[in-house]
Amino acid sequence: MARCMASALALYLMLSSPASPQSADGRQAELLSRMDAQSQHYADVSQKIWDLAEVGYQEQESAELLKAELQRAGFSIRDRIAGIPTAFSADWGAGKPVIAVLGEYDALPGLSQQPVPERRPVVPEGPGHGCGHNLLGTAAAFAAIAVKEHLAENKMPGTIRFYGTPAEEGGGGKIYMVRAGAFQDCDIVLTWHPGYVNRTSVGSNLANISAKFRFRGTPAHAGGAPEKGRSALDALMIMNHALELLREHVPEETRLHYIITHGGSAPNTVPDFAEGYYYARHPSMPVLDGIWARLVKCAEAGAHATETGMEMEIVSSTYNMLPNDVLASIVDRNLRRVGGARYTPEEQAFAEAIRRTLPAESLPPMGLQEQVLEVDRAHLTASSDAGDVSWVVPTAELTAATWVPGTPAHSWQSTACSGMSIGIKGMLIAAKTLALTAVDLFADAGLVRKARDNFEKRRDGHEYRSRLPLDHKPPLDYRARP
Ligand SMILES: [Zn+2]
Ligand SMILES: [Zn+2]
Repeated sequence: MARCMASALALYLMLSSPASPQSADGRQAELLSRMDAQSQHYADVSQKIWDLAEVGYQEQESAELLKAELQRAGFSIRDRIAGIPTAFSADWGAGKPVIAVLGEYDALPGLSQQPVPERRPVVPEGPGHGCGHNLLGTAAAFAAIAVKEHLAENKMPGTIRFYGTPAEEGGGGKIYMVRAGAFQDCDIVLTWHPGYVNRTSVGSNLANISAKFRFRGTPAHAGGAPEKGRSALDALMIMNHALELLREHVPEETRLHYIITHGGSAPNTVPDFAEGYYYARHPSMPVLDGIWARLVKCAEAGAHATETGMEMEIVSSTYNMLPNDVLASIVDRNLRRVGGARYTPEEQAFAEAIRRTLPAESLPPMGLQEQVLEVDRAHLTASSDAGDVSWVVPTAELTAATWVPGTPAHSWQSTACSGMSIGIKGMLIAAKTLALTAVDLFADAGLVRKARDNFEKRRDGHEYRSRLPLDHKPPLDYRARP
């Protein structure tokens, strides 16, 4: 019904608009209908990346697939940014403004899953697209190519760019790309993430710092000569106890979490080596610095009390997302124009089956995927390396409903949705919204300026400085190590 009215309206607009010059609305409609015509092709690309399911810094074939699409469309490629084999950018056009979209394509270990509503891996213990990055990268490339066609057709100046950004899941690809200056000449960055709602945000997420703490002690026979031993595991346990007490004395929004990656080799030998892997998060990087300094003291306390040695290796650190009010309002307007996702009866049945596998108490209503929600102002409690980009270039992000309402990220259910038509529907919402937004920015230099002003206001004099040590290299083998 709504669709009939929409096409009647489109027909009315076509008949009532002058043929030339075409109205902004008419140009947008043309962009959207061209994207509709190409959507099956990009659904196939996304499916291929879902099938490949390559983990961080190993996304060779996935990156090549997107690169090939962009090259075929006439984009010129800059390869191996920051020395990372799967990081690249692709440009079309010339001069200012430079408007960019971010693409990710890394999968997650252990989340292999067939596109069915029950737990059934493709490869037991294998990787899978549980964060929907197959959709993320493909939608961004699709948007970039659609914008290129629009710029060419309407003879509009400027550069549309796609950034291929690897290893978002813990490898921090974008941080090294920022450090390599890849974003220096970029005016605006647009990005999105799969989820189960359609909305944009002027909220933020959490800055984080992660590190491994290693303790080295003295081995000894645990029964025969325990007094000769100095236990690295004891040091780690004291550190963790101190950290648990610290939780009471940090700001409420703080998140602290850890795992023990090595706790000794045998109970009858005093452990001479122990290692834990820690994350600390807070909405503000300067506040997080203070929390982190106290976490290091917990580790020092462990080493001091047990007469062991301690070393810390920073693994990663990402900034919180710096929202942009100007860009968010343009994205919101365009997302409303594109609208939400309607499920077919088969998709509806799939969705209901998926929801039966999720805890019933916190399930949002079915039909949420059809709506576009109000602009979000909340702090999310996750982190992403897109945050680092947002501190050097004005950035907007939206979420599109690629997963059945209530599906958490990093679950087999999200892998399943990302590999079938429900995921594709959300991907197209994102691609269209990104493309419409980029086109708006190309058409009006004033918007780009306003976004920049808002960026400076939001940054409030805080200069971006990654907490990763300067000599820190991209951990290209982080998924290969235990
Ligand atoms: Zn993720
Ligand atoms: Zn993700």
